Formats: sequence, C-alpha cells, structure tokens
Amino acid sequence: MRQKAKWWEALEGAKVRCRLCPRGCVIAEGGRGFCFIRKNEGGKLISEAYGRISGMAADPIEKKPLFHFYPGSRVLSFGTIGCNLNCQCCQNWHISRAKDIRILREEVTPEAVVETAIKTGCKTVAFTYNEPLIFAEFAMDTARACREAGIKTAAVTAGYVNPEPGKEFFSLMDASNVDLKGFNEKFYLSHTGAHLKNILETLELIHRETSAWLELTTLLIPGKNDDLMEIKNMCEWIREHLGTDVPVHFSAFHPDYNMTEVPPTSLKTLNQAYEIGLSAGLKFVYTGNVWEKPRETTFCPSCKKPVIVRNGFEVERNELQNNRCGFCQAVIPGYFSS
Ligand code: SF4
Repeated sequence: MRQKAKWWEALEGAKVRCRLCPRGCVIAEGGRGFCFIRKNEGGKLISEAYGRISGMAADPIEKKPLFHFYPGSRVLSFGTIGCNLNCQCCQNWHISRAKDIRILREEVTPEAVVETAIKTGCKTVAFTYNEPLIFAEFAMDTARACREAGIKTAAVTAGYVNPEPGKEFFSLMDASNVDLKGFNEKFYLSHTGAHLKNILETLELIHRETSAWLELTTLLIPGKNDDLMEIKNMCEWIREHLGTDVPVHFSAFHPDYNMTEVPPTSLKTLNQAYEIGLSAGLKFVYTGNVWEKPRETTFCPSCKKPVIVRNGFEVERNELQNNRCGFCQAVIPGYFSS
C-alpha cells in the first residue's frame, strides 16, 4: 500500500528533496531519508508507511498523556516505524530506529482504523508510538475518515516539521500532545538532532493557526535538561506564547536506549518543576511516569477544588459539569463533554 509522498521536489539526476521536515533530506534514487520510511523510488518520493503499521492498541486517553481531552475515554493508538529525530533516551527505539521495513507487516486502510475504533469503543484515534509527522499522508487520510465517522483524532509528536505541512497536518487533528524536550538549543541538537527553534514555531502554529487542543510533555533527564532556570524560562515562554491554559506534563525519565547510565528523575526534581510551572502562572501542571495523585489532579484555577482526580491512567472522580467546575462553575479549558 506504499504511496507517493507529498511535500517534495525533484532534483537533477533522479534525486529528490523532501520538504516535510527541517532536515530537508536530499535522497538519491533507491535511498531513504533520515526517518527511514520516506524513500526515493525512480526519482519519486514515496511513503513506505502508508497503510502499514507496527502496532495498534486501545489505551486510556490519559496515557498519551491528554488530560483535558475527553478524560476517562479510550483511544485507539497506532504507529509505524522510523523517526526524524534521534533522541538518545528514546523509550520506543525498537520501532523509531528500526531499519527493517518488514516490521510493518500489518496493512490497514483509514476506513479499517475507523471500524476498529468503533468496535473497541474508542472515542479517539491517536497517531503515536513513533513520530506521526513522518507518516503524515496516512495519518491525514485516516483523520479525514475519522472526522466523517465522528471519531476524534490526536497526534503525539515531537513537532519537528516545516510550517506548510505542519499547518495541513495539525489542522486535521482534534488534539495534540507535543514533546517539548527541553529549553536549550545545545541540548536539543546533541540529544535529539533537532533544533529548538523549529519546535517552538510548531507550537505557535498549532496554537494560533489551528483549532487542535494542545498539551505539552517534557521528559526531565537528570543533568541534561533539568536545570531549574531553564525550566522557569520554558514555563515563561509557554505563558507568553501559548497562554496559561495549555496543560504541561513533567514526566520522569527512566534509563533506556543510549542513556542507560543516567539515573531516573527524582521526585524532588519533578515536584520542583511542578511548582515552577505554577509560579510562572500556568494553570494546569502535572507530573507523569510516577504515581503522585495530587500532581495528576486537575484543580479548578478559580476555587482551587479538585475537579478531576486521577489514579495513574484512571479517572477516579470527575466533578465537571460539561466544561465547568462543579463547585464554582468556572470554565475549565479543554474538551470534556461529547
Ligand atoms: S521527513 Fe524524513 S525524509 Fe523528509 S526531510 Fe524529514 S527526515 Fe528527511
């Protein structure tokens, strides 16, 4: 089910230049881009991941994490292989760095994804597990089919994309959780191979130019991106450029892939980041990858009462009335009623 890719140009000598992400790979005939699944075949760029997936599962939406997008509902998640970043701590490196196209053994159509979502009681389909922007053609066709059937869509992404395809992609998503991996260009480049500036541009694009609901996740890696001043600068940037309503998840690192020598994130650091976010004026800050009930709880910014109490990936109590606090009737930003 391979398909001709979008966003590329033909160059001399049957080479192509991919214009999907800032890497701008120039690919010789028979070669592949950095992300592996975009390939030059006969002077044309094709997506080898179109309609071919590496795994699919029904999850709680809280696992993405999306905390203000139909809490307590189920999401049908799937991914392919490959990535346009090279994060040294990748927790899905088995698929993101896979170099064997045969891993994509399951063929699906957008309509089949919709059918499975309906059958499994999923309100949303999420493009996740590996970077969905690199298989944007298939994700977007699936998002269109979902929209027709009344199913929501969400992208879990690192946001490394050029503005034009980024706008097309995120305009079709109902929600997105973007990994903001740090707030330091040197760290971004050495640990992910991407530039911070491009990610910040994507965040502003989603916020200003699309209606997709946006949440952010930052994995705090000891000694790498957990400088408290940097976290403060990041929270202030979020406040100034994205507003105070965007939920921010500070997530605990566990040693993986090329970073097995780095210790897990301490609770102390996570809690410091949580407090910094609140002090910067962000209304909805959470910690993740640890079971810390108070920091997984949504508090009404007006009356300060707990309106959504979570226990891990489960919603234990929901005190919202549609999108209003059940105690004081203040509006809670997000999507809460069907
Ligand atoms: S999407 Fe893939 S092929 Fe295209 S520029 Fe980015 S890494 Fe290269």
